[in-house]
Amino acid sequence: MPSLLLLTAFLSILPFSKRPFIVCSHGCRLTDLQQGFPSLCPSQGPLQDPDSDVYTKFFMSHCCYDAIPTSSKLVIFDTTLQVKKAFFALVANGVRAAPLWDNKLQCFVGMLTITDFINILHRYYRSPMVQIYELEEHKIETWREVYLQYSLNSLISITPDSSLFEAIYFLLKNKIHRLPIIDPESGNVLHILTHKRILKFLHIFVRGSMIPKPPFLQKRIEEVKIGTFKSIATVRETETVYDALSVFVERRVSALPVVNEQGKVVALYSRFDVINLAAQKNYNNLNMTMQEAIQSRPCCIEGVLKCYPHETLETIIDRIAEAEVHRLVLVDTEDVVRGIVSLSDLLQALVLTPAGVEALFS
Ligand code: ADP
Ligand code: ADP
Ligand code: AMP
Repeated sequence: MPSLLLLTAFLSILPFSKRPFIVCSHGCRLTDLQQGFPSLCPSQGPLQDPDSDVYTKFFMSHCCYDAIPTSSKLVIFDTTLQVKKAFFALVANGVRAAPLWDNKLQCFVGMLTITDFINILHRYYRSPMVQIYELEEHKIETWREVYLQYSLNSLISITPDSSLFEAIYFLLKNKIHRLPIIDPESGNVLHILTHKRILKFLHIFVRGSMIPKPPFLQKRIEEVKIGTFKSIATVRETETVYDALSVFVERRVSALPVVNEQGKVVALYSRFDVINLAAQKNYNNLNMTMQEAIQSRPCCIEGVLKCYPHETLETIIDRIAEAEVHRLVLVDTEDVVRGIVSLSDLLQALVLTPAGVEALFS
C-alpha cells in the first residue's frame, strides 16, 4: 500500500462494534427515539418555544450519507509516512486532515489534523537556530506513540446510515472537528464530516424553505446566550506565533482573536492558519510576531467576521454559513472582544440541547 492514497483505496476493516447509544440528561436512549421521533426530552435550553426542536428532528431524520457532497477530495496517510511529508501533503492537496491507515493492523487508526502539527511544533520547538529534528525525522507512527499517551487513542468514526444527530453528538462530545464516515461493508472512508458541512447541509434546506423558520431565530444573541462569553482566549498582535501555539495547546480552542494595545480585535488566527507555516516552510521561526504571521497569510478572509450582542440568531447563522467560517467574534461597539459564537455552540444549542443532550460542556 503506498504511503499516500488518493480516494482509490479499497480497504478491508475490522468489524464494527455495536453502535453506541446516546443518553439524554433524563436517562432516555435517544437513538431509540429516532424512528419517527416520538416525544423528545423537554428543552432545558435558552430557546424554550414550541418549535425549539425543529433542527433536532431535522438532523435525526437525515443520515450522514445525505450530507456527503457529490464530489470531494480525500487524502489518506499510511502511518509509516514521515510527519513532515504528511503536513506538506495536506498543503499540496488543499485538505485540512487525513485518516491514518495502519498497514500492519489493516485498519484506520486515527486522524492527522492541523492540531497535530501544532502539538508537534509546540512540543519540540527550541529556537530559530535549531532544526526541529522530530518534525524532520519522525514517522506518523512514532509521533502517535508519544502523543497517544495524552490524548484520544482510537479512531472516532461513523457509518453512512447513522443520523446527523449522532454525528453532531460525536463531534461535540469528543471535541473533535473531523469525523470520518466509514462504509462498514467495504471499510472505505467516504467523507470527512465537519461542523461546517453539517451547517451547509441544513442551510440548503433552510434556503429552499424546506424546513420552517422557528420564531426563536429572531431572538437576540444576548438574549439566548449561545456562545462563550467568559475567559476568551486571545493573543496580542505583538506576541509571537509560539505564544499563540501555547494558547492553542493549553486552552484547546480552535481560534484566537488577535487584539491590539487597546484590546480591540484586529484579526483572527485560527488553527487552520498554522498550516501556512508548513506551506511557507517557516516553521523554524516561531519567534515572528502575530502581526508578521497575519500579514504573511497568502489568501485569507479580509478583516474579522464579527457579530454584536443585539444581532439576531438568524443573522448570525446566515453570516457564518455564507462566510464558511467556524465562528464569529462577538464584540461591543468599541470592537472589544466579548465572546465567541462557534458552530459547536450553535449545534449544541439548536440540535442537542432541545433533546436534553449536553455534549459540548460534559
Ligand atoms: P483540527 O481542528 O486541527 O482539524 P481536531 O480538533 O479535529 O483538529 O483534532 C484534535 C485532535 O484529535 C488531533 O490530535 C486529531 O488527530 C484528533 N482527532 C481528530 N479527529 C479524530 C477522530 N475522528 N478520531 C480520533 N482522533 C481524532
Ligand atoms: P476550519 O475549516 O479548519 O474550521 P476556520 O473556519 O477556523 O477553518 O478558518 C478558515 C480560515 O478562515 C482561516 O484563514 C481563518 O483565519 C479564517 N476565519 C475563520 N473565522 C474567522 C473570523 N471570524 N474572522 C475572520 N477570519 C476567520
Ligand atoms: P470550537 O472548538 O470552536 O468548535 O468551540 C468549542 C468551544 O470553545 C465553544 O464553546 C466555543 O465558544 C469555545 N471557544 C472557541 N474559541 C474560543 C476562544 N478563543 N476562547 C474561549 N472559548 C472559545
